[in-house]
Amino acid sequence: MPESLQKIYIQVAVALPISDTFTYTVTGELIEEVAVGKRALVPFSGRKITAYILRIIPPGKRKGIKDIITVIDTRPLFPPQMVEFFEWLSHYYLYPIGLVIKGALPAGLNVRIPDRTRMPPRGWLDRVGLLKMVFITLKKGTTIDRSLFDRKRLPRNEDEFLEMMIKKKEVSLREINSVFSNGAYLADKWVRKGFLKKTRRTVARDILDETLFIPTKPPPLNSKQKEVAERINEKLRDNTFFTYLLYGITDSGKTEVYYHAVRAAKELGKQSIIMVPEIALTVSMASLFKARFKDRVAILHSALSTGERYDQWIRIAKGDADVVIGARSALFAPLPRLGLIIVDEEHDLSYKQEEKFRYQARDAAIMRAKLSDAVIILGSGTPSVQSYQNAAIGKYGLLTMPKRILKRELPEIQVIDMAKFKRGSAAQDESIMSPPLKEAIEENLTQKKQTILFLNRRGFSSLYLCRFCGETIRCPNCEVSLTYHKYGNNLLCHYCGFSIKPPKRCPSCNSEDLKPYGFGTQRVAQVLESLFPKARVERMDRDTMRRKGEAQQVLKRFMQHETDILVGTQMVTKGHDFPDVTLVGVISADLSLNYPDFRAGEITFQLLSQVAGRTGRGNMPGKVIIQTFNPSHYAITATKDHDYTKFFSREIALRRQVNYPPFSLIAYVRFLGNSKTKTEKIAAHIGMKIRNTIKQQSKRKNAVEVLGPVEAPMAKLKGKYRQQILIKSRTSRYLNQLLKDVESFSTQILSSSGVRMIIDVDPYQMM
Ligand code: ADP
Ligand code: ZN
Ligand code: ZN
Repeated sequence: MPESLQKIYIQVAVALPISDTFTYTVTGELIEEVAVGKRALVPFSGRKITAYILRIIPPGKRKGIKDIITVIDTRPLFPPQMVEFFEWLSHYYLYPIGLVIKGALPAGLNVRIPDRTRMPPRGWLDRVGLLKMVFITLKKGTTIDRSLFDRKRLPRNEDEFLEMMIKKKEVSLREINSVFSNGAYLADKWVRKGFLKKTRRTVARDILDETLFIPTKPPPLNSKQKEVAERINEKLRDNTFFTYLLYGITDSGKTEVYYHAVRAAKELGKQSIIMVPEIALTVSMASLFKARFKDRVAILHSALSTGERYDQWIRIAKGDADVVIGARSALFAPLPRLGLIIVDEEHDLSYKQEEKFRYQARDAAIMRAKLSDAVIILGSGTPSVQSYQNAAIGKYGLLTMPKRILKRELPEIQVIDMAKFKRGSAAQDESIMSPPLKEAIEENLTQKKQTILFLNRRGFSSLYLCRFCGETIRCPNCEVSLTYHKYGNNLLCHYCGFSIKPPKRCPSCNSEDLKPYGFGTQRVAQVLESLFPKARVERMDRDTMRRKGEAQQVLKRFMQHETDILVGTQMVTKGHDFPDVTLVGVISADLSLNYPDFRAGEITFQLLSQVAGRTGRGNMPGKVIIQTFNPSHYAITATKDHDYTKFFSREIALRRQVNYPPFSLIAYVRFLGNSKTKTEKIAAHIGMKIRNTIKQQSKRKNAVEVLGPVEAPMAKLKGKYRQQILIKSRTSRYLNQLLKDVESFSTQILSSSGVRMIIDVDPYQMM
């Protein structure tokens, strides 16, 4: 045999914080087993570690390349088309490629190999995780009919059991046991009689035990839906990458459009991914698809158990699913024939992962679609400014569905100007509960209707507000709200570091009523208790929802009408349908409006629209009351008028004026340390080096702007002091290159300093 056939070269990524990839050789019988997407065990600085095979490469000149030890998997864990995607993610978000892949794969696959010297038998991984289940089936050639039901002599449940068998033909023993306490006995009895048969086989765990009732037969599309579906089909047939923004208000019937798109893709032999922002939302989406595509649906999200995720993953990799539904991590579904990606509620901030690998799943989905020549649909009732702008300039195709299917009225929205009311003790505190809101709650209680009160407060209260005109003090450079620091008694811009003493008079209206402002859900609940002692009130926020399943319990009690008023943070705004909620009160729209964040207006508009959508879902019309010191702010008036385009045109003008995304690209370089002075010093040092780097690349000087370092709005979090540098750039290419430079020159400065540096590309968390 010529030497070239006895030895091949592979490029691998290792599951370690290293950005490089490595070359290994493969010899002998392992050559047959090597494939892109499988894992190999390789020698690496004296250890044996897991490596992901990225490609088979031509032999290089380099000497001393080591042999792999073995191939771990019997089948690839991801298709070769995904390699380029992983590489892009690693490059764009500056995250080691091996860790990108490790994070994408289900955790069960990163099992430690039990013994370092002795390898487990080949194929062992295919056996862990898979579940063997017992099924009871009707035996061929026999029929069970009602003539066998001798009512008098049948033991308990037997007739129901037989009915179930006649209807379903095959039922797992587990399901039988969950329905009948004497299930095992009944099954055995009829197996012995020769009518039923017991079989054992491996199954993917059914993780959707919480299915909802969904009509299996899809309703005929209305004309608008048809038109939209047809435009999607056109692009699917083109077999090239295309992005659509589907702007359809809540209840306009987007889900049915998604279904038709997935079906059309399937008819063309393509597979689909549907992403939803929250794990909880996968249930309703998956129920619909399961009802119609049966077992050709796979679910993928991080709340699945290790074994469940493993099962789903393997099914998908084998090509056994036509559609994968899940939260952020569904992005990595190893579909070999991906043709369509749907990102539902594309504006949702949860698509950004805020730890370790900080990727934006919606943006990454667009890149995955591009690399797969797939069509991608971004759906939303309140599109992100970025996506709508892309549609406006023709980069995306725009599809709109402006009407509700069932012609339900949009809720009436009333905006209350809080400047009129005074502070007082709990029962009279009109600054928390204005008289109009109080009356509305009272009326709702008398009519036995339910109320949701929403207070947006992500543990951030350092807001400095004029109680008369509602203005906060803003940074003259950056237009974001300044943050009040009690200790230094100053107001600080967390983008550029601008700082002033709090003025005595409001710069907008000259009033002296300028104060720090903030309170939490607990305070609201307290006010409610003293105003309505008989009302049943529950609170739902991160403090009260620490234990697992607690949120579900609260929602269930509310659903069953055991609670009259639900007070909560964002947690109450998403997804749930409560037909008896006829009043939604927003305690303060100002909290989000004045985030020290350039997206404050966008976040507020989306939140308010979403909260408003929580009411009037049943047959009764709903009402929304928004309390604010800023009744004339465009985010509020646009919400009141249900007018997205009005909001968008104001917002986009502001972004352009101050050069924020989508007119620039930004990244944060953050510093976290136990010592305040050390963290500040390192941040200052690296900040200076960044500026010098840019100066040296003189051509670039005008294309990039560096702000800070400055203390983060949450200056201390989990015991760490936080400093941040904001970089704005005109092009993504230059930003990326600059960040790579920052990464490399910082290694030494940071080493053994006790300060950690985090690079966040396209950040969403500005605090
Ligand atoms: P969205 O996702 O845009 O909020 P949905 O797709 O959930 O809206 O649709 C809202 C409601 O209208 C659902 O109950 C759905 O079953 C129903 N629906 C959707 N399309 C149709 C249709 N063509 N005919 C009748 N009912 C429909
Ligand atoms: Zn004022
Ligand atoms: Zn500033």
